[in-house]
Amino acid sequence: MTKFIFVTGGVLSALGKGIAAASIGTLLESHGYKITLQKFDPYLNVDPGTMNPFQHGEVYVTDDGAETDLDLGHYERFTSTRTSQENNWTQGRIYESIIKKERKGVYLGKTVQVIPHVTDEIKNAFFSVADKNDIVIVEIGGTVGDIEGAPFLEAIRQMRLSLGEKNTLFIHLTLVPYIKTSGEQKTKPTQHSVRELRAIGIQPDIILCRTDRFLKKELKAKISLFTNVPLDAVITAKDVDNVYEIPLIFAQQDLDKIILSKLDLPKKTRRLSQWKAMVDRIKNPKDTVNISLVGKYAGLHDSYLSLKQALDHGGIANQLLVNISWVEAEILEKDDPKKILAQADGILVPGGFGTRGIEGKISAVRYAREQNIPYFGICLGMQCAAVEYARNVAGLKKANSTEFQAKTPHKIFFKWRELKGIRDLGGTMRLGAYSCKLQKGSLAERIYGKGTIHERHRHRFEFNPEYEDILKRSGLVISGKNPDYGLVEIIELKGHPWFLGCQFHPEFKSKPLQPHPIFKSFIGACYENRKKRHIDRRKI
Ligand code: GLN
Repeated sequence: MTKFIFVTGGVLSALGKGIAAASIGTLLESHGYKITLQKFDPYLNVDPGTMNPFQHGEVYVTDDGAETDLDLGHYERFTSTRTSQENNWTQGRIYESIIKKERKGVYLGKTVQVIPHVTDEIKNAFFSVADKNDIVIVEIGGTVGDIEGAPFLEAIRQMRLSLGEKNTLFIHLTLVPYIKTSGEQKTKPTQHSVRELRAIGIQPDIILCRTDRFLKKELKAKISLFTNVPLDAVITAKDVDNVYEIPLIFAQQDLDKIILSKLDLPKKTRRLSQWKAMVDRIKNPKDTVNISLVGKYAGLHDSYLSLKQALDHGGIANQLLVNISWVEAEILEKDDPKKILAQADGILVPGGFGTRGIEGKISAVRYAREQNIPYFGICLGMQCAAVEYARNVAGLKKANSTEFQAKTPHKIFFKWRELKGIRDLGGTMRLGAYSCKLQKGSLAERIYGKGTIHERHRHRFEFNPEYEDILKRSGLVISGKNPDYGLVEIIELKGHPWFLGCQFHPEFKSKPLQPHPIFKSFIGACYENRKKRHIDRRKI
């Protein structure tokens, strides 16, 4: 029978519940168990697709095209699970389904209530991924005590009642702050948060304490006494430099063994040597490489979370530390790119929406193309690369994308639904995994080492097929195309050390143990450029 682990959070948000849940996944997989993770978010939006990434962080896209919470990215990076729509549920989606059923008369005139109807719907969602897994780790978003989260907590309480202690486990993440003035770590917030949980009938089995230092035995004993959790199940979740260290910190304290024994599952051999070696590589880079990320920030780097991770993975693959300079694209509209991007060993324009900063991004592309600096354009970054090429190489001075200028005489990119023959696909965005055939001998084919790939999309605008030949004639290489619709997926430049734009988001599939080949190659090329630049400088 599938076992369930429920991870809740107390005291405040942003304690790293997603990473804690993902790290538990890493540990259980290391014993050979088949696991997956789910995220339940208490808000009433049906999915995060329409939520502002500057407030909520990036929208993570799965193979099946679900627009999900960024924690699903952690789940995929830390474990081998492949997530889907069934791995992310919001309260809005739960209610949407209940209201639809109510309108259809499914409830046969009964009063539709939070208990049992909402809680039953939530429990069904827990079971939606149970079949193929030994253990499902369920992360409940928000903080215990929030009004919105109550139905989820009630549902997990009922899960314990119906499945029993050996099949369900409650893990609670809290904060143990260090108070500088008194030089002490304080347990009171943890006590309060667990009291809150117990008041609704949930006794945690394990407590993860987020702290800046390892908890001393006496402090663990105090937490144990006040929360009714056995001493060995009070675990330090210490701050770390790199998130990939967390599974190792948990393993040090035998969290995996405690979980398996509580769930009455045999402990197999813990196999973490590959993971440890990866963390060692992160800690011992041979050199650094500077990447300028030209985008739109509004202060929240979490809106590019998977991208940042994938760049780090490219660093791991090359044993390099990747320094990211976050360059506001608008600055490049006023200032000389030579000055702003002087330190860049490589330039990346990530995905994005809207017109702000577009001309700045296009000038970054031009600078990278003309100065032979490795350039990587993702989705919007590919649009910018194609437009720049059309304007400055193919001579179509007024070329643009209809996303930026609806009435441009040369629509290099336009809304994909306007393409003939694909109107029936539904939705306004191309979402999820699509296949792409790579051109023999191209940079893309060399990078992937195969002829067909599958990558995830999230966009409305596509390369206009009318301009394919025109741009090809002036030297642009179209190295990847979707075989079903003939859509352009990858563009490159001949005679440039490394220049690639892709319509998809490769960052969603990169993992620390399997760095994405494009990121690996890009970081490698940036490092070559760095070495060359240093040699050139010495010559001067
Ligand atoms: N805004 C562009 C589009 O919708 C690019 C989206 C993206 O970069 N993901 O096509």
